[in-house]
Amino acid sequence: MEYQVAADALNGKVILVTGAGDGIGRQAAISYAQHGATVILLGRTVKKLESVYDEIEAAGYPQPAIIPLDMMGATRQHYLDMTDTIEQQFGKLDGVLHNAGMLGVLSPFDQIEEKAFDEVMQVNVKATFLMTQALMPLIQKSEDGRIVFTSSTVGHSGRAFWGTYAISKFATEGMMQVLADELSNTTVKVNAINPGGTRTKMRASAFPAEDANNLKTPLDIMPLYLYLMAPEGKDVNGQCIDAQPK
Ligand code: NAP
Repeated sequence: MEYQVAADALNGKVILVTGAGDGIGRQAAISYAQHGATVILLGRTVKKLESVYDEIEAAGYPQPAIIPLDMMGATRQHYLDMTDTIEQQFGKLDGVLHNAGMLGVLSPFDQIEEKAFDEVMQVNVKATFLMTQALMPLIQKSEDGRIVFTSSTVGHSGRAFWGTYAISKFATEGMMQVLADELSNTTVKVNAINPGGTRTKMRASAFPAEDANNLKTPLDIMPLYLYLMAPEGKDVNGQCIDAQPK
């Protein structure tokens, strides 16, 4: 399917992107801004967020905002405070792209260390859960709210050695389905994207020997990211969609 949205599809919308400093999140923030959204750039490395901010501003897109936050250490209270700040500054939130994530260590199951397990689950699952819970009342006030999670091919089909990462993405898809079902009679749509192999630092660390030139870039997979946030995608709910279908 071709995912197409109008050039001004996101005009007037306020969209939060996590992990907005690098890789797919960086491109999604820029693409949402290009289509008219005011984007809130959340991430842990301020320099990277500032560089995305500068790029959006230089292009003349709506002025973005930065939220520096390390999802490894953030508590429920951080997410509640963040939600208050967004409401005070922007008056609303129309969408969140849960994109931040970590790969952790790829290893045989019996060698997964408890600390490494906890770290990946903390960032990929628990922090995403806490943030979603805190943001929900605000997103439910939007006329056309969107929550988009990020899964993986190993989020619905387990694979040897993908350990905690795969487990965390199964949990992500479960969270998406539960929430989508609960909100199915509301204006909020909840979905997930499986980006497929995409040219980023995370992909390079999982597949150090491959030629990255053969991979799609974050820009290549943006049509689906835009579609699920735009009015064009308003009838999709509870789906995990491949950005690079085979
Ligand atoms: P990436 O280039 O490594 O970017 C990940 C982003 O998440 C970075 O901006 C990173 O911040 C941020 N992040 C990591 N830990 C964080 C924390 N504790 N607090 C706040 N932010 C944190 O990876 P990517 O490839 O773009 O991946 C984006 C999403 O797509 C992930 O959920 C990943 O699992 C998923 N995915 C990617 C692929 C692929 O082939 N690339 C395939 C399937 C799924 P820093 O820049 O500060 O490190």
